[in-house]
Amino acid sequence: MTTIRFLTALPPGSPGSVLGPAPDREESAEAYRAAGGYAGAADGPDELLHHLAASGLRGRGGAGFPAAVKLRAVGERGGLPVVVANGEEGEPGSVKDRWLLRARPHLVLDGLARAARITGAVRGYVYLSDPEAAARVRRALAEQQPHLPVQVVETPRTYVAGEESAAVRRINGGPALPTAKPPRPFEQGVAGAPTLVANVETLARIALTAARPDLRRRIARTTLVTLSGGSAAPVLTEVPYGVPLRTLAVAHGSADATGALMGGLFGGLVDARALGLALDPDALAAAGTALGCGAIHFLAPGTCPVATAALAVAHLAAESARQCGVCTAGTAAVGGALDALAAGTAGPDTLAHLHRWSQGLPGRGACGLLDAAAGTAGSLLRTFPGLVRSHLAAPCPACAGGPPPAAGRRLPAVAVPEVARAPLPGAPDAVTSGAAAGGSTPSPA
Ligand code: SF4
Repeated sequence: MTTIRFLTALPPGSPGSVLGPAPDREESAEAYRAAGGYAGAADGPDELLHHLAASGLRGRGGAGFPAAVKLRAVGERGGLPVVVANGEEGEPGSVKDRWLLRARPHLVLDGLARAARITGAVRGYVYLSDPEAAARVRRALAEQQPHLPVQVVETPRTYVAGEESAAVRRINGGPALPTAKPPRPFEQGVAGAPTLVANVETLARIALTAARPDLRRRIARTTLVTLSGGSAAPVLTEVPYGVPLRTLAVAHGSADATGALMGGLFGGLVDARALGLALDPDALAAAGTALGCGAIHFLAPGTCPVATAALAVAHLAAESARQCGVCTAGTAAVGGALDALAAGTAGPDTLAHLHRWSQGLPGRGACGLLDAAAGTAGSLLRTFPGLVRSHLAAPCPACAGGPPPAAGRRLPAVAVPEVARAPLPGAPDAVTSGAAAGGSTPSPA
């Protein structure tokens, strides 16, 4: 079971925290208002946009685009913009967005309403695939209707369904598949209107910034992360930028990690030396990896990075929307080469092909899935060259004992932490959806 854990660097009740004081319980409208939420901001939309720009807040969906730039771009298009809270979380190693919608729907809706004021939007959507989160968002909307009409749109959960053009396509009545760009959603999105598609954590941080502009830098430089891998239970936590990756490994129970798969499937593989890096988008990018959606999968001793890369790319190949020929063929080719490498059956040209694909494939699909497959292979070749070469002669002991690769195999999905439902009006206690999340005691970080 995934646990929610506070680290010492950000203990329970820290002002400006998305995790909030009680992350194992759904927050009611009453509780959110009592904590200062939905308050008429002292600052207007222009001032809030100024605070967001000054804070440097970046989107938390994976790409890390500056939030203020995106908001401004939609607002400047004119017309009747639309805002979308994107809670569709297709990364198998990430749970933060579904947790957020289940536990703090009002924080997200408050952020959506404030984004609407900044952009001049007249309609809003909450886009997601998690039925439990959808039910709680609908209930939250019944408790406190924002100033604009907001509709919940559900989609089947896939890896690409959360891509912003896929979200727009689904809301427009089509399949949740990415489209070619341009136009981008800010130019032509839902029903042809300029559309802001913002990750739900980004919106939560916009709401927190509106409530506490004095804490804008801290809010922008803090992030939710999902930690998994090895035999330790997955952990959802919130940390300030700058925390060493090794501290997160210890907090997860992976102190002996030999590396990690970073940023969901978008940051590639890093080795144990990289665990000395600070969790900071710029520091990670400079080191050739990425924070992405904040999902970090630690490699346990005895786990082969070649096998991990092969499984990650197999997952991506299975999730390819098969719209772009280069992606359909490319992900399968990269996956096949990695499988052969893991099995010790790779031919002499395999490494040359992998090098070429890792450099030539990124940017050629309609979405980032192909980039992720190529990037994973490239990071393996860059980071573990000796291990890769040794696999040309024979599989390592870890790979030799494994089953033959199966078509369509996927990475295991991390489970969303249990969040007790908010008490029904007039009820004495919470109606729970399962056991409460554990580990609320701060851990060193
Ligand atoms: S790059 Fe791949 S996953 Fe993305 S739209 Fe094209 S075929 Fe689909």
